[in-house]
Amino acid sequence: MNLTVAQLSESELLARIFPRLHAGTTTLLGPGDDAAIIAAPDGRTVISIDTQVQDKDFRLLWPNGSTSSGFDVGWKAAAQNLSDINAMGAIATAMVVSLTLPSTTPVGWVEDFANGLSAAIVALGAPQCSVAGGDLSGGSELVITVAVTGSLNGLDPVLRSGAQVGDQVAVCGNMGFSAAGWALCESSIPPSAHTPAMAQAAALFARPVPPLAAGPVAAKSGATAMMDISDGLLRDAGRIAAASKVRLDFDSSMLAAQAEKLMETAVELKENPLQWVLTGGEDHSLVSTFPASQILPEGFVRIGSVVSVDAAKSAVTVDGQNFEGAEAGALGWDHFAV
Ligand SMILES: [Mg+2]
Repeated sequence: MNLTVAQLSESELLARIFPRLHAGTTTLLGPGDDAAIIAAPDGRTVISIDTQVQDKDFRLLWPNGSTSSGFDVGWKAAAQNLSDINAMGAIATAMVVSLTLPSTTPVGWVEDFANGLSAAIVALGAPQCSVAGGDLSGGSELVITVAVTGSLNGLDPVLRSGAQVGDQVAVCGNMGFSAAGWALCESSIPPSAHTPAMAQAAALFARPVPPLAAGPVAAKSGATAMMDISDGLLRDAGRIAAASKVRLDFDSSMLAAQAEKLMETAVELKENPLQWVLTGGEDHSLVSTFPASQILPEGFVRIGSVVSVDAAKSAVTVDGQNFEGAEAGALGWDHFAV
């Protein structure tokens, strides 16, 4: 049965979505009223929003024959929003979701989306976070906007501006896997021909696994600056460098272990795995700076150090040099690039 959203009333569609939405512990009033009410015992609310547009931020069908299911798109929408809360050192408390749906969208796709959104919240370790409400509209393409709130639970937020010369730079989470998975989707290698390493990269591209416990732990451990890597390590680290008025210098030997994990896929696609590690977005891992003497929290790996600005060099360098002569800002994902 190929029931589309055009064949249901809005209230009928909502009746199919509501039971699938995860109810966390922070909701005082959930979906069904004019607005939801979320507890905020800390007295401060962390808030972020993110939009994904079909064929701009995601595809439903890829050149290699892969498909992105509603579950995948819902998972990714949750993951990237939860990651932004994590990157502040906070834990997520609630999400609201706005869906713009073409009239031909199968109802099953929307149900699958709600399932994926809720599954990610639980599986990624944010079960306290409710899907507290949302909005439905029609349009010519799928547009998914998720806003998320979070709590610092008494901690100071970790900003991009706090890195100090002498700090160590560390990352937590997967590096370059999502970029490798994206490259596979854009290639001519069908999913049926994937090796286990390729299948892993493809899975992490479809359903990223940000390290959600690590943000608050880093905050407690004295992280001086932090952000999640959504647009690529070089580009996002460049944002820390700019905000902190420092340079971040990576040690390529410390990045080699990350690149090695992607070698098999890179060889098959004739790509450079270090390029994926340095410029691949959407793994939603954390890049943080810590005082030099700080023992890094579990899961964080040192990749370099914070040094002084050098007017002759990029804001982020690798082994003291500009990476292949490119400005950090020219690498990584740019929404407005043609
Ligand atoms: Mg971010």
